[in-house]
Amino acid sequence: EVDLDLDEEGKEEEGEEGREEEEGGEGEGEEEEFRAVICQRCHKLKHYGDVEDALRPGWSANELLTPERFRELVSVVRRKRCAVVCLVDIFDFHGSLLYNLPRIVGSNPVLVAVNKADLLPADFSQDRVRIWVKQELEKVGMTDVSTRDIHLISCKTGNNVRPLLRSMKQMARQRRRDLYVIGAANVGKSTFINRLIELGRSGGDAQRKKKKKQGEQSKGGSLVTTSALPGTTLDFIEVDLGDKVSLYDTPGLILPHQITTLLNTEELKAVIPQKRINHVTLRLKEGKSVLLGGLVRLDMLEGRPFLFTFYVSNEVKLHQTATDRAGEFLDSHLGELVSPPFTQERRAAMGPWVSRDFEIEGTGWKTSAVDIVISGLGWISVTGALNCKVRVMAPEAVGVRLRSPLM
Ligand code: GDP
Repeated sequence: EVDLDLDEEGKEEEGEEGREEEEGGEGEGEEEEFRAVICQRCHKLKHYGDVEDALRPGWSANELLTPERFRELVSVVRRKRCAVVCLVDIFDFHGSLLYNLPRIVGSNPVLVAVNKADLLPADFSQDRVRIWVKQELEKVGMTDVSTRDIHLISCKTGNNVRPLLRSMKQMARQRRRDLYVIGAANVGKSTFINRLIELGRSGGDAQRKKKKKQGEQSKGGSLVTTSALPGTTLDFIEVDLGDKVSLYDTPGLILPHQITTLLNTEELKAVIPQKRINHVTLRLKEGKSVLLGGLVRLDMLEGRPFLFTFYVSNEVKLHQTATDRAGEFLDSHLGELVSPPFTQERRAAMGPWVSRDFEIEGTGWKTSAVDIVISGLGWISVTGALNCKVRVMAPEAVGVRLRSPLM
């Protein structure tokens, strides 16, 4: 596994460049969990054994795998005077947010593109989500991002991508800088870039000619391919946005606590939502459990009944059962009523479940008290009066944490 301790590097840099910045993240202990990053391509090579070498003639897999190479790539962003477009996935906000973001971007100005807004309930409040994003960014040390610089977009539908592109160009031109786009695996970076290219095309003009020149990287007219597999973007690919503005796409990073790192192609298709989430609310009493496919189990351990709203892909089957029968139910129905995964072998391959217990203080029935986030899978919003104690059982590698409620 290629684990990289960017902290180490960050410290060196601090010495050299006299940066006054302290630790990027704020988390109490949980930061450990968010420390290691893996190059998305390395992950893909390791787990899926394929990478679009064709895009980079002369690059061997071994070269792609070196952590040094990856460090070097990421550090370019901080060293350059550039403007950074940071892409995050609203469906997996903390899972897709690079924990050491302040260090990665350095003192460069940042636009935050919050992608996959199409997955949120149709009536969500943009303002509320933007403020929530700002607050969450502040918690990880990104204190300079204003709500104006936070764009809720959908690369899938194209919604709000055009105004973002306008802001990107404006920022680049005003500050005379190139743009760099950064983001963790699966945030939709390839889809985003394809959108920008599309918008550039529909804008006509000189861009088309230039893109033709870059055509050696292009397959079927598209510079970047997308897939449900984490890991498609290779090295820095330059995209001409027109008006003398260039955008550089950086490799995606895998944050290992995301459940998606454990999944194969078939499972990823089920777990990464492609359509608006039909969130489901269940009222759970003590002694009841909910299986989220065979991936995670939630137990209501103690307390008066609470409401649990599940924001996970519609393809992840939810099943309510008595806690004392949950294990048996899982064993006998995995792959049918309970999926993904689809086989016992695949379930075993994800490693044994560990329990994480949370005591939740209710805030009444009008607003959710807290979200339980299962990184890469989604979140469960918890609503109720008084207090309750819940247990989440999930593979050890998967990050499970509480956050302030998004919806
Ligand atoms: P990358 O790894 O960051 O380059 O991500 P991709 O562009 O390959 O996208 C990862 C997955 O997210 C794919 O299954 C995409 O279809 C999906 N995706 C990308 N953008 C959106 C979006 O705006 N909405 C939804 N619902 N899915 C998206």
